[in-house]
Amino acid sequence: MPQGNSARDVMPAVGKVVLVGAGPGDPDLLTVKAAKAIEAADVIVYDRLVSPQILDLAPRGAALISVGKAPRNHSMPQSEINALLVRLALGGRHVIRLKGGDPFIFGRGGEEALELAKHKIPFEVIPGVTSAQGCAAAAGVPLTHRGLATSVRYITGHCREDMDLDYDWKGLADPDTTLAVYMGRATAPLICERLAEHGLAGDTPVLIVARGTTKDEWRCLTRLDALESKVAELEFDGPVLFVIGKVAGLARELGGMDAHQGEKSPALTA
Ligand code: SAH
Repeated sequence: MPQGNSARDVMPAVGKVVLVGAGPGDPDLLTVKAAKAIEAADVIVYDRLVSPQILDLAPRGAALISVGKAPRNHSMPQSEINALLVRLALGGRHVIRLKGGDPFIFGRGGEEALELAKHKIPFEVIPGVTSAQGCAAAAGVPLTHRGLATSVRYITGHCREDMDLDYDWKGLADPDTTLAVYMGRATAPLICERLAEHGLAGDTPVLIVARGTTKDEWRCLTRLDALESKVAELEFDGPVLFVIGKVAGLARELGGMDAHQGEKSPALTA
């Protein structure tokens, strides 16, 4: 067959993107599949919540690209992240798109997957332990528990600029449901107000976790009617997760947390 010199001959084969969940923080909570994928990476595009110990698994020579973002402080807009993934893959790179927790739980992994599908770029998803599961388990809190919670709902407290959180508050205020609230720090007052208005008792236990499953983990066990003031008093920046519901109270018996409402567990405040 004659060898032409067409553009097709010089175009690299299309690469692949693997959307990988890095888990809640503790590198040991990576799945084996995620660890193997990171160890074989050519390029890693990662978010702010991915811990440095996990990035240390990358092979020498792998390109590490941070697209980290904090609420209202996006260092790279989502559309540019999507375009970057497409460009790298079309350039023949094997891309690991590393995200905190699970890529498909409030991680915008679905949007990235849709963009890749649109460009016919092969991709794979490796799930991760989402922070609600990691943080709750580390504190001894079962997200569902016979007699205390028949369901769990993952909700985001983050709303677009100038928009209210438009939720089915009546459904969310169900005392038999556990609410795992991601990105709720800024909207904690609103969340507390709406839940109380819709009948959730003020003494409903709430677990607040920051940097969950890492050596710098901070936790506090409080109650719904004290959540707003607890959040206002936090002396650090950064994301927190709330677990709202009767199950959070099990952090006393199963997580060794202080039985006094609202106080920090001494073991956890060092
Ligand atoms: N895809 C991620 C969530 C990304 S949204 C996941 O599955 O976990 C970011 C939010 O996740 C943060 O605002 C916070 O609410 C929560 N979060 C992530 N890691 C956390 C951690 N180690 N401790 C506490 N909250 C965490």
